[in-house]
Amino acid sequence: MFTRVDFNVPMAEQDGLMVINDDTRICATLPTIRVMIEKGAKVILAAHLGRPKGKRDESMSLRPVAEKLAELIGQKVDFCDECIGDSAEKAIKQLKDGNLLLLENVRYHAEEEANDPEFAEQLATHVDIYVNDAFGAAHRAHASTDGIARVITARGGQCAAGLLMERELQFLGDELENPERPFVVILGGAKVSDKIKVIDRLLEKADAILIGGAMAYTFKLANGLSVGKSLVEPDMINIAQSALNKAAEKKVNFLLPTDNVVAEPSEVDGKFAFGNHRVNNNENIPDELEGVDIGPKSAESFNAVIKEAKTILWNGPMGIFEDPRFAEGTFSVAKAVCEATANGAKSIIGGGDSVKALNSAGISDQVTFMSTGGGASLEFLEGKELPGVSALTEK
Ligand code: AMP
Repeated sequence: MFTRVDFNVPMAEQDGLMVINDDTRICATLPTIRVMIEKGAKVILAAHLGRPKGKRDESMSLRPVAEKLAELIGQKVDFCDECIGDSAEKAIKQLKDGNLLLLENVRYHAEEEANDPEFAEQLATHVDIYVNDAFGAAHRAHASTDGIARVITARGGQCAAGLLMERELQFLGDELENPERPFVVILGGAKVSDKIKVIDRLLEKADAILIGGAMAYTFKLANGLSVGKSLVEPDMINIAQSALNKAAEKKVNFLLPTDNVVAEPSEVDGKFAFGNHRVNNNENIPDELEGVDIGPKSAESFNAVIKEAKTILWNGPMGIFEDPRFAEGTFSVAKAVCEATANGAKSIIGGGDSVKALNSAGISDQVTFMSTGGGASLEFLEGKELPGVSALTEK
């Protein structure tokens, strides 16, 4: 049983060894792996790590992941330093029922991202069933997410979604199709351009859309306000204006921050820094200042809307939350989302930095679902078909 998993975990070098900083993605796929072991399958796991661009790069080896997985699942995990060829075949043949084998980074071969049919055939050697549990990679038509499924389907084999994939599709798809109302969408992060298609689609469904992060400043510009040195996308102003018009037409409560935490950006000895941060209690931001977080008044009005929600979708931080001085808006929204969940709302966190914020506040167990996909969850929320999902015969 060949299982494509998302083991693209953050790693850092420590004393010459690569160490995993966050094992969330490995943990998220454990239920699928456990079921396969219980069923007595010979489990071949394949994944990518980073962007080695078709070349072997030891800093992107999956070997440390095999060790981590063994520790988490409490069972030996064989590791093969190739994903195709003689050594992989030998390792696969040695597997006994219920054994686990992790293959080396599929992206060590350029054929993976090129979705090369011959490479897909090689991956499929000795495989009768394909399972895709890698939601985070499902928006890419690569050999291990698409090509191999086609090879196995053509042979009359089964290609199924894993349990994590199934949950992702349920929460980001089915649950938002007919959400219990009020349905409140919270969006933040750096760019309007990354999320405008999601906004456009959700304007058809949401009762309220709350916008924070740098995205908010492009919307403010569209409203004729001044935003000082804040991060904006001037070429998106017209599109932002259309979204505001659509919100008015559809009677969606579209909230932008009315106050902001601002700071003075400066460069000292070639190093960028923010100084003198304070609350700017005005819709307009003075010329020399940059908006770095939503202000307390905005957080209060966002939280009042969140409190009434029955369904919540959140993607993107409210400010530059990596800097504790500018994290309050994001953490306040995170807390409000958890409180609404405790009062019966369904909260769905659309991956990326909002998940990081919940994890660092230690409250990630207080939301209904956290997506493991960044790009994949955005594309899915845009309504796109994901190649890694369309290639499956059983969903
Ligand atoms: P995204 O990947 O689009 O969700 O964006 C996340 C990034 O947006 C984080 O790294 C934040 O630091 C950044 N961000 C959020 N608010 C701001 C802001 N006001 N100015 C600049 N960057 C921001």
